[in-house]
Amino acid sequence: MSVKETKLYDTLGVKPDATSNQIRRAYKKLALKYHPDRNPNSGDKFKEIRHAYEILSNEEKRKMYNKHGEKGTEEGFQEGGQDIFSSFFGGGRTTTREQKKQKGRDLVHSLNVTLDELYRGKKTKIAVSRRVCCKQCNGYGTSDGKKPPVCSDCNGRGIKIVVQRLGMGMIQQYQTRCPTCGGTGKSLQNVEKCSECNGQKTFPERKVLEVFIDKGTLNGDKITFAGEGEQSSETTPGDVVLTIKEKPHPLFKRKGADLIMNYTLSLYEALCGYQILIHHLDKRDVLINSPTDDVVKPGDVRGLSDLGMPVKGRPFQYGRLFIVFEVEFPEKGFLNPDVQNLLKSALPNETKKNNEKGTGDEENFTAEVMDINTHKTTIKKMQEVYQSDSENERGGGGGVGCEQM
Ligand SMILES: [Zn+2]
Ligand SMILES: [Zn+2]
Repeated sequence: MSVKETKLYDTLGVKPDATSNQIRRAYKKLALKYHPDRNPNSGDKFKEIRHAYEILSNEEKRKMYNKHGEKGTEEGFQEGGQDIFSSFFGGGRTTTREQKKQKGRDLVHSLNVTLDELYRGKKTKIAVSRRVCCKQCNGYGTSDGKKPPVCSDCNGRGIKIVVQRLGMGMIQQYQTRCPTCGGTGKSLQNVEKCSECNGQKTFPERKVLEVFIDKGTLNGDKITFAGEGEQSSETTPGDVVLTIKEKPHPLFKRKGADLIMNYTLSLYEALCGYQILIHHLDKRDVLINSPTDDVVKPGDVRGLSDLGMPVKGRPFQYGRLFIVFEVEFPEKGFLNPDVQNLLKSALPNETKKNNEKGTGDEENFTAEVMDINTHKTTIKKMQEVYQSDSENERGGGGGVGCEQM
């Protein structure tokens, strides 16, 4: 395999005929080694590695690099100098249109992934069906495999100007796609058609793509396979775009790189300390201990550094894990007099009663178990009764709102 230059391959330490898998593995190894978080003295080495990978991991860019070297990957680079030359000879706008081919349709799929898989990273395969150019005619549909002649209806422009008279001396003018050639500017009408595709130009084809989901990939992130979408001779191939869709997890909720989980403690644990066993997303068993002397109130949050999700592209960084606590109190009646006395001696004696001393003549009440919502309904009902009574007094109501005297 001959390539114009090998600098980017050398940067990653691979041969020019390396597979995309080998390139990816080499990149991961070097990125780990030279990542600024780990190796702050390596200067621009990490940037160079990333730049090389950006180009070599993209099929389209890699092709251009192999053919033209690094300048072929720069924005605005045009392949085939002779086309520019031909534009001096009357081709004008048509030639320019041909040089800058439009991009074909992208194929967009969503990929359902579990949180475990996003934590650990995943290799998977998907099959895409798209139309590819007929190899015998290069997607032109002609028997000689060359561009068909220019459409005589639109003179190769692919569009037609339609002038409509609206009356009163007014005219409307608009552009429309040429119906003869379907906007391609080429016509197969008077040409011998390709025997392989019978002038259809493209065939449906199924292709299996290998997908690598990086550790820490976020919900909604996109993975693009450049040039694997729909093909046609009039366009550059479209891309296959996969959108990551994270499935909900029974324990963890995710917020960026942080994980949040709910946990219910018994009152005993809330006051005397807790130990929580978690089966983490990487299959590790993690034991979380309470800090000494901690007292957990309902709704309290405790956090743990580095027990969250890995940060995408930063293999040594992890988010935090937050635990939102609920506290379950024991049921009514568990406090027999002995337990009560024990508790009284253990708990701090801070009654919330206002300090004012009573006169000794206070009326005594005992609180009942009562639902605040039931109580509200009763009041509402009482008000309704009162209102309908007063309406009756006014003489039948009748629905008259307000009368000014
Ligand atoms: Zn036409
Ligand atoms: Zn064909």
